[in-house]
Amino acid sequence: MKIYSTLSGKKEEFTPQGDEVRIYVCGVTPYSDAHIGHAMSYVIFDVIRRYLRYKKYTVKYVQNVTDIDDKIIDRANKLGIAPRELAGKYTDSFDEDMKALNIVRAETDVYPRATEEIPKIIEVIQGLIDKGHAYPAGGSVYFRVRSAPDYGKLSHRSLEAMRAAECAIGSEEKEDAMDFVLWKATKPGEPYWESPWGQGRPGWHIECSAMSLKYLGDTLDIHGGGQDLIFPHHENEIAQSESFTGKKPFVKYWLHNGLVQLGGDKMSKSLGNLITIKEALKKYSADALRIFILSSHYRSPLTYSEEGLEAAQNAGERLLRVVSRDDPTGGKGEALDAEPYRTQFIEAMDDDFNTARALGALFDLASAINQAGDASVGIGQAQSTLVSLAREVLGLKLPRIINVEVSDGISMRATVEASVIPEAVSARVNRLIEERLKCRQEKNWQRADEIRNRLVELGVVLEDTKAVTGVTYKSVPSEELVDKLIAELDISL
Ligand SMILES: [Zn+2]
Repeated sequence: MKIYSTLSGKKEEFTPQGDEVRIYVCGVTPYSDAHIGHAMSYVIFDVIRRYLRYKKYTVKYVQNVTDIDDKIIDRANKLGIAPRELAGKYTDSFDEDMKALNIVRAETDVYPRATEEIPKIIEVIQGLIDKGHAYPAGGSVYFRVRSAPDYGKLSHRSLEAMRAAECAIGSEEKEDAMDFVLWKATKPGEPYWESPWGQGRPGWHIECSAMSLKYLGDTLDIHGGGQDLIFPHHENEIAQSESFTGKKPFVKYWLHNGLVQLGGDKMSKSLGNLITIKEALKKYSADALRIFILSSHYRSPLTYSEEGLEAAQNAGERLLRVVSRDDPTGGKGEALDAEPYRTQFIEAMDDDFNTARALGALFDLASAINQAGDASVGIGQAQSTLVSLAREVLGLKLPRIINVEVSDGISMRATVEASVIPEAVSARVNRLIEERLKCRQEKNWQRADEIRNRLVELGVVLEDTKAVTGVTYKSVPSEELVDKLIAELDISL
């Protein structure tokens, strides 16, 4: 497997340091709803984690929450609420969005919050001071950039060029205009923590160094984030972490995703051209958003367009129709072999996570299934290959299909969009669906409608098309509630 690292500027063979792949991705500063740019970054790193797990790696993943920051304080002041309250609200909102986008939260993942990691942050800052890499001044602490001779190696620029480009903001306290803040002295009315240098709060860059050190150790395999984080944020992370541990490299592979554009501009808060994840999900399915994002290479910019999303929505529905196709049993015709498509998919993913090509292989497989004659052999097998790659690696939900035996060998099918429904609940709901399909078969429309209406009351919506009953969980009912309904309708389990 080859991965492109921003540090070397080329594709490198992927050799993690141990059995466990340690990944750190910069998280959000929760002061407003997350937008499509966030969706792109977190979907990409979700697919990377999924693929590594698919390849049987153990993955340890850490993603921080910058829950104290100038932006949070400013917005909270404008709204007249506590910064803590604002950050809590938008952290929850972000978590909801990630869940809606089907982004995996593994049990071993850690999502540390800056405000809960102050002791570790102070420890790292103190260590940097002790080694001469940082100095306190006026109640703040700054990193001494000229103490890190290879500063600029990630963004591939020299200190002189950075100075000339006026990247630096001077201040009387700093020894050098390029020095950046590790600890900020408190200003009146701001939240603060006690420290050896007085009351204050951590700078943004040091949080990520402290949290990655604490949860993943001195060396990470993969560090990810958007390309807008390369400088200064990730450059500063390298300087801090390598100066603190004395070990190089801090990160083996630096991965940066391209940015989302809208009508030729970067999508950003300051340009006021943001589309939030919540807005997008009102119009398009999570599968459509994921297909849209994964259709271009993760390092390229992604141009948001309604046409692009509609095409992705149609593509997702095409996959669904293909996996919903009946598998003709007892066929004696041509054999459909899904293996070459799976191989192409794997080769594409092994080549720096080329999801565009991997998706291409998936859609080629879909076309092959679609075109296979009714007497073909292996359609069911090809469908399950398609479903497992789409779900396991690309994180598509692709509603589950259940086969329901109705009577005398006549079966009907239902699709269930239910990746997060507890098995006990879905088993009971499926029993109700089965009963309803049986009623329809027997033309007992009244009882069929009753079952459907009662399920709607529990948040479970059934939609019939010719061949398939679609099931959507608007909310997930408790096991007890479904049991009660089953008893009231006098259905045996
Ligand atoms: Zn970071």
